[in-house]
Amino acid sequence: MIWDELSEGLAGLDRDGLRRRRRQLASPCGPEAIVDGRRLLSFCSNDYLGLANDPALIEAAAATARQWGVGSGASHLVSGHFDVHEQLEQRLAAFSGFDRALLFSTGYMANLGIVGALLDRGDAVFADKLNHASLIDAAQLAKAQGVTSLRYAHGDIAALERQLAASPARRKLILTDAVFSMDGDVAPLAELFALAERFDAWLVVDDAHGFGVLGEKGRGSLSYCGVPESPRVIYMGTLGKAAGAAGAFVAASADVVEWLISRARTYIFTTGSSPIMAGALLASLDLIEHGDARRAHLQALIAQLREGLAGTRWQLLPSPTAIQPIILGDNHEALRVANALYERGLWVPAIRPPTVPKGTARLRVSLSAVHTPAQVGQLVEALRGLS
Ligand code: PMP
Repeated sequence: MIWDELSEGLAGLDRDGLRRRRRQLASPCGPEAIVDGRRLLSFCSNDYLGLANDPALIEAAAATARQWGVGSGASHLVSGHFDVHEQLEQRLAAFSGFDRALLFSTGYMANLGIVGALLDRGDAVFADKLNHASLIDAAQLAKAQGVTSLRYAHGDIAALERQLAASPARRKLILTDAVFSMDGDVAPLAELFALAERFDAWLVVDDAHGFGVLGEKGRGSLSYCGVPESPRVIYMGTLGKAAGAAGAFVAASADVVEWLISRARTYIFTTGSSPIMAGALLASLDLIEHGDARRAHLQALIAQLREGLAGTRWQLLPSPTAIQPIILGDNHEALRVANALYERGLWVPAIRPPTVPKGTARLRVSLSAVHTPAQVGQLVEALRGLS
């Protein structure tokens, strides 16, 4: 039967340590998680500022639901764009330093929408090899539209420069994560911007992991890296990580946003995001803007973890962000260490291919401003005690 090969495929995933399994939580997002009746210390979420379960966001969500209901009922272009969405877009544009901002239901969809709308046959996209899957898929989709898709070695400005110089493409678009989601390092955005200027290219920056965390007042990676305001920069920020809710936005020049409204298929052909999210996100932006103490605490935890593991057998990547990967290499070894921690009440996800390149399986420790130094201390002690 047609489904027989699926069972074989699943057995193959088990053999290679690549079968994905979910764990079910009996508690909301936070530093601790209740799973199978056990209370675990969690280092899994992208809730970097600890806003996902913040009372101010919960209150704003409830108040918005009472005023605006639950669903938007239609796409933004039909009748699903409410005052509360508009207010959020204006706040996001002002906060991120662009003319306009446009809400998308997810970051994944925003990335597909941007690339699909801006490029066509005869154009070219230049992407960092370690970009997030949604940017890889965006480039793949563009390829199907006749766009040339090139990848450059991670952070390799010279390689990108060579590719740009050799490209006969009419329109060029550089595509990069700002903070690489599985490595935690920050892209050389100022250098990428300089290349975009030189070769008259778009620069699309996916700041899923920097928005709310990096830069002045949490404005994100462009501020952190000192990239000047420019109509060639297209900024994508997600709202389900540091912002604690769900969704994403693209901030750019007014013309880019108008173009996306008319041409981005993942914007046009989907239901408008829930007004509840928009209401909660307005409250979240207040906390982000006044979140220096949370960001400073997070930085202190990052330093504590790195110092605590320095000189041990655990190989941390040189990440300055809340994403602190420990490279193990082998898939089974990554699972073994993750399971050993789990038995000790510590939940750290093992990340394996295809999420990361083959042979670079890792633990992805993700820190949040709601962790305490004692909790990070527990993780350090547990890792030091493991062989
Ligand atoms: N870009 C990056 C770099 C990400 O890490 C993620 C989410 N893991 C996304 C985009 C997708 O965002 P969303 O979860 O809102 O679809």
